[in-house]
Amino acid sequence: MTVKIPFDTYHDYEAMTAHLHALADAYPKLCTLTSIAKSFQGRDVWFMTITNPDTGPILEKPGFYIDAQIHAEEHATSATALYACAYLLNNYGTDEEVTRLVDSQVFYIIPRINPDGAEYAMTAPYHPWCGNGRCLPGEDRLEGLIPQDIDGDGYIVQMRVPDPKGEWKCDEKNPDIMVQREPGEEGGEYYRLYPEGMIRNYDGVHVHIEMQQDGNMNRNFPTNWTPQEYGAGQYPFSEPETAGMRQVILDHPNITGMCAYHTHGGIILRPSMLQMDSEMSPPDLSLYKALGEVGEKLTGYPTISVYEEFTPDKSKARHGTLTDWTYEEMGIISFGTELWDLERTAGVPKEGYYNLGPRDAETQRLVHDWVVENVGDHGFRPWKSFDHPQLGPIEVGGMVYIWSYRNPPGKLLEEMCHNNVLFNLRHAAAAPRIEIDTVEVEALGGDLHKVTAVVSNHGYLPTNLSDVAIQNKVAKPVTVTLDCENAELTMNPEHVKLGNLAGRNERRYAYSNWGQQWSPVTKKVEWLVRSKGADAKVTVTAASEKGGTDRSSVALGA
Ligand SMILES: [Zn+2]
Repeated sequence: MTVKIPFDTYHDYEAMTAHLHALADAYPKLCTLTSIAKSFQGRDVWFMTITNPDTGPILEKPGFYIDAQIHAEEHATSATALYACAYLLNNYGTDEEVTRLVDSQVFYIIPRINPDGAEYAMTAPYHPWCGNGRCLPGEDRLEGLIPQDIDGDGYIVQMRVPDPKGEWKCDEKNPDIMVQREPGEEGGEYYRLYPEGMIRNYDGVHVHIEMQQDGNMNRNFPTNWTPQEYGAGQYPFSEPETAGMRQVILDHPNITGMCAYHTHGGIILRPSMLQMDSEMSPPDLSLYKALGEVGEKLTGYPTISVYEEFTPDKSKARHGTLTDWTYEEMGIISFGTELWDLERTAGVPKEGYYNLGPRDAETQRLVHDWVVENVGDHGFRPWKSFDHPQLGPIEVGGMVYIWSYRNPPGKLLEEMCHNNVLFNLRHAAAAPRIEIDTVEVEALGGDLHKVTAVVSNHGYLPTNLSDVAIQNKVAKPVTVTLDCENAELTMNPEHVKLGNLAGRNERRYAYSNWGQQWSPVTKKVEWLVRSKGADAKVTVTAASEKGGTDRSSVALGA
C-alpha cells in the first residue's frame, strides 16, 4: 500500500495534517502520530514515530531525529520532513535500506515545529516571519514601518521611493533590478527601498523600521542561552513548541543523530556554533567531517562549520540554538541542513556561504531571469505605480523572498527532499549498534559451567557518540547482565559495565603512533554458573543507551 502525497507543491497546515493522518491510518503498526504541543493559535504540533514494533521496544533501538520549520518561512523543510515520513513508510518491505532501518532503528520526526508562523508565511500575503504565533504580524512592532500588502495584489514585496538621496538605482540593462549606487556616483535617478507597508506614527520625514520582535525559536534552547540574542524568548523553552521538542528529546535518550532542517543556502551546517575548528574536539571534528562527506555526496551540499564559515562577524555568534543543546551539551551528532540555493541554481558562482549582499547587477540578472522563467509572478512582482498615502507616488514590486530565495518552486522540491532524506538515512545507519556476537558455554565438570559472552559495537559511531559526551559526563557505559533460570551465578557480578565501545570511525587510517589511538570495539565477559537441572538456562542482555539492546539465551545442558 502506498499513500500518495504530492511533493511538487507546498501543503498548508490542514493539508499537511491530513497527509500525516493518512500515513498513520495506512501504517498503524509502523508509526504513531501524536501532538507534542498546542501552538498559541491552537494548532497541534505533530510528531511521528516510525519503527517496526516487532523487533523490540523503541528505547532498545538507536533513534534518529528529524525536525523542520522551526522558522516560519522555511516551507521546503516541512516538505522534506513529511517526505521522510512517507519514504520510510511507503518503502518499508520493498527497499532494503528503509526496511533494515525501520526494523533496527526508530525515527522521530517533527514535520512542522511552528505551524502558526508557517501559516502566516504560506498564505497570501506571505508575511515575512521567523517566529511563532505568539503575536499576529504587525503586533510585534510598536511603531515605524509595518509590512503589509498595501496594493492588495496578495504579496508583501518592496516599495521603491524616488529620492535624490537614495542609495539604489535601476540596472541599466533591466530596470526591474535595483543595484546600489556607487560611492561618489552622482547625476542619476535614485531611490530608497523599503519593505511594502504603512508607517505607524510617521513623522513625515524619517521611515523608521523597528527590528521585528516575532521571535526566533532556534535561540530558545538552554545551552549558551542569552536574553541578548535576537528572538531568544523570555527564558529557555519559553515557547510551547520548543517545550514540546524538549520533551521529545529528553523522553528519547536513544537519539544518536539529528537533522534540523532550515532554508536556505544549500549547505549542511555542523558544529561548532561558538568555537573555531581548532578548538573543537579532534575526534568529533573528524567524524563530523566524515559524515559530512557522505552528505555532500548525496545532496551536493558542502558541510561547513557554523562558527568558522557561516558567522562572518565572530562577535555575533549564535547562542541558545538547538544544536548547542544537543551536541555541545548532550553530545548527539547534530546537523542543520540549509536547503535550497537559488543563486547556485540560477548559475551564480558560489563565493562564500554567508553573504547578505548587496548583489551585483550580473548576479541579480541571473537570479531575476531564472525566477521569472521558473516561478513567474509568484516569485517576482513587476514594479507597479502606487499612490502611497504617506510616501506619495511610489512603485511596489520586486522579489517575493519566500517564493524565490527561501523556497524552491514546487517542480524542484521532490528531488531535493529525496536527496536530503537519503543523507538522513545514511547518518541514521551510522549509529552505534550493540550486538552479542556469541554466548559460549563450557562444561567444567559436575554442574559447573563457564559462560562467555562477546559483545561488540557493529556501528560506525562509538556508543558514546562523541568525545563531547564523555567530557560532559553524559555518555552511559554499555552494560551486560546475566540472568539465570534454574541456575545460580557463582563467580563474577551479574551486572557488568563495559564502558564505551568504539565505532569503526576511530580507525579511518592504518594504525599510526602519531594518529588517533584505537580503543576496543569488542569486549568479552565471563561468568561461572552452577546448573540446577536439565532445563537450566542463562540469558545475556547487552544494553547501550545509544546503541540499542541485544539479548541471547543459551541452555546450559545437563
Ligand atoms: Zn531556519
